[in-house]
Amino acid sequence: MKLENPNAPAGTLTLDHFWMPFTANRQFKATPRLLARAKDMHYWTPDGRQVLDGTAGLWCVNAGHCREPIVRAIQEQAATMDFAPTFQMGHPLIFEAATAVAKILPKGMDRLFFTNSGSEAVESALKIALAYHRAKGEPTRRMIIGRERGYHGTNFGGTLVGGIPGNRKLYAGMMSSFDHLRSTHDLNRNAYSKGMPQHGCEFAMELERLILLHDPSNVAAVIVEPMAGSTGVLIPPQGYLQKLRAIADKYGVLLIFDEVISGFGRLGAPFAADLFGVKPDIMTLAKAINNAAIPMGAVAVKREIHDAVVNGAPDGTIEFMHGYTYTGHPMAAAAVIATQKLYHDEHLFQRAAVMAPYFEETLHALRGTKHVIDIRNLGLVGGIELEPREGAPGRRGYEALVGCFEAGVLIRVTGDIIALSPPLIVEEEQVDQIVDTIRKVLTSIA
Ligand code: PLP
Repeated sequence: MKLENPNAPAGTLTLDHFWMPFTANRQFKATPRLLARAKDMHYWTPDGRQVLDGTAGLWCVNAGHCREPIVRAIQEQAATMDFAPTFQMGHPLIFEAATAVAKILPKGMDRLFFTNSGSEAVESALKIALAYHRAKGEPTRRMIIGRERGYHGTNFGGTLVGGIPGNRKLYAGMMSSFDHLRSTHDLNRNAYSKGMPQHGCEFAMELERLILLHDPSNVAAVIVEPMAGSTGVLIPPQGYLQKLRAIADKYGVLLIFDEVISGFGRLGAPFAADLFGVKPDIMTLAKAINNAAIPMGAVAVKREIHDAVVNGAPDGTIEFMHGYTYTGHPMAAAAVIATQKLYHDEHLFQRAAVMAPYFEETLHALRGTKHVIDIRNLGLVGGIELEPREGAPGRRGYEALVGCFEAGVLIRVTGDIIALSPPLIVEEEQVDQIVDTIRKVLTSIA
């Protein structure tokens, strides 16, 4: 189809050629929603309508849109050196970027492998886990345990270790190296929890059951999102992550936290690992690492894991046969350095912690609104679960998305769960606007 586009000189935009990701393509192209410009807390549509960003783009623009220091760093880098390889070569900026991120990572987790996305960070983390066990003389440790409803991106490893049936069903023959814990979601006991739910710590015991079932000598790692975002905002039950840590330690299994969403201040601390007081062995990062200004991801590993792989190989050999053309891309690196400085200078992680109680209170005031069956929150993340419409799961969520967008607020929905994750610069009135809009829209839909 062709669409009138005031930004395009020809006056028309063809939508046919771009096969859109995670999108109902035919539905979207029949009624498109386009964004053309962004600044701070807002987007603007091509026809100039302002839309308040309740989702930091896609959980990633934590400092707000088009922040001047980040824009300038990218512009300057684009004009200085557009690309440089990092295979047997290097450039100073990516080392500087690694140091900037290492400074805020949990102590001792300061060896970084860079990728271009969260999905690639997950693949790299899984490979590092296997490489570590091999280097330690335990090459049979190859099984990876994930969790139902886990989302770890869309490459093969992440898809299979993830726990979203719709994402996995095409790849049934490839699943033998993976097993899954049950999800911690428990509406009956935990609905309307503020912060960490009280019940469900015992679900962590499944890890021990699975490790014993497969035998510890075969299990390499367990990977979870410490706070599951994409599956609809599932906050870990109190004590759950501590238990996972203890069981993983008991059997020599690596604990991987996928912090692609929960990292960089989203929960009011640098990382979920800090907030929950549980240190994983490996962390995956992406999105807000550079405010999503240029695609980038990373894997942070404990020194001993890095050293086992890197120091264990003979001199002069490439220790880990893995990497991407764009690993450590100069523009992405420049954006990391500028972003980390901005987070630090504006105390944005602390700001998220300060705003979190207001966000919680305002969000929970939606209790009793038509269709709402649960509200949950932590830091600047909120989930509002709607009762699915009889015979049409997901439809109500989609209508809420469209209704809010038309009313000037961008939300994210997963099925019938609304997920909120505004930029960390959000103001109280903007939290009010997001929640008021959701209330009005939910009241108006069937
Ligand atoms: N891991 C988690 C926890 C995520 O939420 C996501 C994306 O939302 C990914 C991995 C994949 O990241 P990307 O879309 O950058 O590949």
